[in-house]
Amino acid sequence: MHHPTRLLTIGFGIVILLMIALAYTGFQSINSGGSQFNLQVAGQLQKINLINELSTIIQNRTRFMQSMLLSENDFIENESWPTFSRMSGAYSATRERLESLLAPREYDLMKAIDNLDKEISDLNRQVSVLFLNGSRDEASLVLLQEVLPKTVPLLAHLSELTQMQRLDVEEAMLLASQDAQSSRTRITLFSIVAVLISLTVTFIAIWYGRKLSSQLQDMNTYLEEKIYERTESLLDTQKELLEDKNELTRMALTDNLTGLSNRTHMNQILHKEFSRFERHNQRFGIIMLDIDRFKLINDKFGHDAGDEVLKTLAATFDKAIRSSDFVARWGGEEFLICCTTIEEEDLLPIAETIRQLVATTNFNHKGQITASLGCAAIVKGESIGDLIKRADVALYEAKNNGRNRSMVSEFTDISLW
Ligand code: GH3
Ligand code: MG
Ligand code: MG
Repeated sequence: MHHPTRLLTIGFGIVILLMIALAYTGFQSINSGGSQFNLQVAGQLQKINLINELSTIIQNRTRFMQSMLLSENDFIENESWPTFSRMSGAYSATRERLESLLAPREYDLMKAIDNLDKEISDLNRQVSVLFLNGSRDEASLVLLQEVLPKTVPLLAHLSELTQMQRLDVEEAMLLASQDAQSSRTRITLFSIVAVLISLTVTFIAIWYGRKLSSQLQDMNTYLEEKIYERTESLLDTQKELLEDKNELTRMALTDNLTGLSNRTHMNQILHKEFSRFERHNQRFGIIMLDIDRFKLINDKFGHDAGDEVLKTLAATFDKAIRSSDFVARWGGEEFLICCTTIEEEDLLPIAETIRQLVATTNFNHKGQITASLGCAAIVKGESIGDLIKRADVALYEAKNNGRNRSMVSEFTDISLW
């Protein structure tokens, strides 16, 4: 796994664990702390109730003894024993229930209470006997001087015991609140740590996301640049290939020496014009030109001089032909001019213009150069080959008739040739 991705996974794992711990701690502290405190307080309250019961029994006994002072002998005789034994029973029962709830530090105090109670019970018995024996004054004396003075510390001890319970409750409350406080602190700490780790993980996630996105952006830019470069280079190559192709095409259709179209190109032009004539009946004609006695020029001035003459001648055609016409070097010292959209009678003037131009052109002191020309305009049913042949025949006639002249082939019947 990639390093930041592993970090993120670990981070989220820790956050989830912390959340679980947080929930568990909260639940635990609410449950255990709370119920323990409740149990303790319930115990203390029960103890307080039992101590109060003891106080009430002792107070009732004291009140009963006080009432004995004012009662008739019959009443004392009938009521004192049952009342004392009932009260003694109640005391014992309450005391027994209290026994299991006593804390070790309360044993001494409880023992003192028990002793006082025992002494008072014994005195009560004495008082009852004195009453029943008729010694009412003596009984009153014992009651006032011995029983009552013992009852006061007894009640004070019980009150002290109650006070201890109050202190215990207060302590339990304090402990519970401290416990709650420490739970709060623990939960707060857990929360802070969880929030910090969450924030860290979030920041790492954001940082990593940004880093990834910028890496992707860089990669994208790099790829775009590469594609652009490749496209540019492909376009350049394509352009070069197109240029090469154009150059090759041009070379294939151009005559090296004169720069005019070559025979191949002229054949293409003738075929185009032929189909135009067939479709639209738009006539075209050709003029075939052959330099007179060119062999002599070569012989006299050399082959290179002959080439120069050919080049100079090629350059003069422009002045004589129409912009819609085409000229090509047909072979050796022969040239072919294709005149588009023309009638037979208009060929001769053009041929004559060319002939005169050649005759008057200065070929650099190589003497006067002339040319003979044969013209022919296409007719229905005739092929390109037939047309060329007729022009050739006209040229032949021009040669035979003394050269430096133009002849037009007048169409008779093709089958005669
Ligand atoms: P005619 O008037 O009957 O046409 O006579 P001619 O001498 O022009 O005709 P011929 O066919 O006897 O000779 C043509 C000459 O043209 C022969 C050849 O050496 C020359 N020639 C053909 N092509 C070239 C070329 O490219 N350069 C040069 N310098 N001479 C060429
Ligand atoms: Mg020739
Ligand atoms: Mg010739």
